[in-house]
Amino acid sequence: MSSLSLDFIEKLKAIVGEDWVVQGEDLVASYVLDETPPPIRPQPHLDVVVVKPDSSEEVSEILKLANQYNTSVFPRGGGTGLVGGCIPTASGVILSFERMNRIIVDRDNLMAEAEAGATLRDLLNASDEAGLFFPPHPGDEGAQIGGLIACNAGGSRAIKTGVMRNYVRGLEVVLPTGEILKLGGKLLKNNFGFDLMQLIIGSEGTLAVIAKAWIRLYPKFPATATLIIPFESRTTAVKAVPKILHAGILPLALEYVEKIPIERSAEHLGLKWPCRVGESFLIVILAEQSNEALYSQCERLLSLCEEFGSLEPLLAESREEQEYILKIRSEIYSSLKPDMVDILDATVPPASIGFFMDEVERIAKRYNTYLPSYGHAADGNIHVHIMKEQGWRMEDYDKVRDEIYAAAVGLDGTITGEHGVGAVRRKSVDKFLNPTHVKLMKEIKRIFDPKNILNPGKVLP
Ligand SMILES: Cc1cc2nc3c(=O)[nH]c(=O)nc-3n(C[C@H](O)[C@H](O)[C@H](O)COP(=O)(O)OP(=O)(O)OC[C@H]3O[C@@H](n4cnc5c(N)ncnc54)[C@H](O)[C@@H]3O)c2cc1C
Repeated sequence: MSSLSLDFIEKLKAIVGEDWVVQGEDLVASYVLDETPPPIRPQPHLDVVVVKPDSSEEVSEILKLANQYNTSVFPRGGGTGLVGGCIPTASGVILSFERMNRIIVDRDNLMAEAEAGATLRDLLNASDEAGLFFPPHPGDEGAQIGGLIACNAGGSRAIKTGVMRNYVRGLEVVLPTGEILKLGGKLLKNNFGFDLMQLIIGSEGTLAVIAKAWIRLYPKFPATATLIIPFESRTTAVKAVPKILHAGILPLALEYVEKIPIERSAEHLGLKWPCRVGESFLIVILAEQSNEALYSQCERLLSLCEEFGSLEPLLAESREEQEYILKIRSEIYSSLKPDMVDILDATVPPASIGFFMDEVERIAKRYNTYLPSYGHAADGNIHVHIMKEQGWRMEDYDKVRDEIYAAAVGLDGTITGEHGVGAVRRKSVDKFLNPTHVKLMKEIKRIFDPKNILNPGKVLP
């Protein structure tokens, strides 16, 4: 028996139309989970109704109604989050944006106007068709614009081109009380008042619903190449990263991967990792405006390899070869997932990445466990994975996680550089975030959402 009244459901149907209100445990099942590894994923509340608005005005009406009925509202994007951010942890409404997926590209202003439900894949394709380029690439192309902005997603290209926050120039948002607010627009400069847009970016669906965004695009990089640089050890590989940057080489991506997980990912796809030597690898993607600039960066990097202590590098120039390598890199998470308890995204200052990895290695030895790691080495953002161990209880995994977090924070880092707090990192907030910061966050939440109806049980402890 649902706790949502018939009267409330009828009013939702009057706002969006009967076909766009979905109820019943079987029908809502595909809307209540995300990509969080199952051992730590919060139990979803199944007493929910999925509502699919088609405009900011409909979102506004839904939020006004939810306020009136004191009902929780959970914004949901592509469900690719890794911290349970969109999982309904109480009875209420799931807002699903699949009908709001329109994109208009303004070539003259190099700007895309994208609705919340358009996916990253849609934005990449629309930009490409307009002869332009959206540089960031947070792993899963099924993620939606609303979710990417709500999480301030990063990804492998952040080193050269920044994270979502650096691309969003305007937002149309709906406040939890139902007011529609436009912040910024197709503007490259805007200093009028406190920057509420930047406050909402990364607020993980707790301060406002993102309905539409104006996103900056760039000209394409016509010349690209991908190099795999193999090393005998993790230490020599990660220590080469700052040297590459010091040498004046600014790659589009500079990723660190290890032999066992990358070979497992290739096998999972029925492919073969092309590098036959080495235990640890840097994957370097170079992207330049001309072939001359590309070749000069490539030559410089190859001539530095020996100095880094690397083994024989492998250069991929054709689009097919480059995509082959990236496909294997992007499936590591899925191939490890069945044996995984958690994927961490602690981040340290880039030059401290070697010290952080040494500390991770010491923690693995101390607990006699395997902590496969890969990720965005040049951003100081390596994903350490906590794997299932026979006979371990949840408290054992928690201890390992806390030690990794303490190591990152001890190096002036943060416990999350990409995935956010969501539901699963809430218990770490009081431990690792300054109490004044937490107090201000709670006060800001109260101003935006006096009845605490928007994504309750997320981010704030
Ligand atoms: C294989 C894989 C690789 C990944 N790689 C990366 C990576 O490289 N970098 C990175 O940063 N992340 C990465 N992620 C994590 C994930 O893709 C990002 O966090 C992404 O931003 C989530 O977007 P989503 O649309 O799936 O959001 P969801 O998972 O649906 O929701 C995430 C949060 O956003 C909120 N939200 C969603 N839509 C809206 C809206 N319209 N208004 C307000 N709030 C909203 C939700 O309430 C929730 O709190 C990866 C995930 C996977 C599975």
